[in-house]
Amino acid sequence: MLRKPFVGGNWKCNGSRKFINSITNTFNSEIPNIKKVDVCLAPPNIYLERLQNKLRPDWLISAQNCYKEPKGAYTGEISCEMLKDMNIDWVILGHSERRHKFNESSKLIGEKTKMAISKDMNVIFCLGEKLEQRQNGETKRVVVDQLQSLSGIKDWSKIVLAYEPVWAIGTGVVAKPYQAEEVHSFLRQWFAENVSKSVSDQLRIIYGGSVSPNNSVELIEKPNVDGFLVGGYSLKPGFIDIIKNVI
Ligand code: PGA
Repeated sequence: MLRKPFVGGNWKCNGSRKFINSITNTFNSEIPNIKKVDVCLAPPNIYLERLQNKLRPDWLISAQNCYKEPKGAYTGEISCEMLKDMNIDWVILGHSERRHKFNESSKLIGEKTKMAISKDMNVIFCLGEKLEQRQNGETKRVVVDQLQSLSGIKDWSKIVLAYEPVWAIGTGVVAKPYQAEEVHSFLRQWFAENVSKSVSDQLRIIYGGSVSPNNSVELIEKPNVDGFLVGGYSLKPGFIDIIKNVI
């Protein structure tokens, strides 16, 4: 396979010390061929260190957000420098809940992404359209607009792109495999035309939105679906089945 599959788990604002103790017992069990996939779990910041201490070392750990400045008077924020200081090399940016529930602009998300890359972090960059934008035929325009905030980035090897249609997140309504493939192949083509063929070939484009052990089987068969960003199921033992389905 040209691109190593990637499965991210976004715990959002869920979890506890007790939960981490029990779920890591399940997640740390042996999984055949686990080296063939990158797995990355994103707990709430307060649990990053605990998860680092409990989780198998061959899985990656990510923050769910960070700020665009290295330090200063930004109450409530954490910076990439602090994440790096805690040996956290990954961050999710542009998640639809940050964009829409916390009104983060594309400009801010672009600034955060550039800061993260400049600090040698890896970014799971999320993008996707709302239902009414899809119904109005605006999906491609919306995702291209969201990508514009990344203009100027040179090192695309540090980015995993997560296509997450807003209407599919946490709703149980998963995109049909052809719908995901349509947007993923459009994005790959966009990179070939606007960045380079080699970036387009190597960029991992993962799908997120109501991914389950069942629906992941058909989705991963699509040539431009390189893995998943999983919300609800990343808090369940079924996350292991999703990982096994991409291997
Ligand atoms: P979900 O969340 O799998 O619960 O739909 C996906 C996400 O928000 O990344």
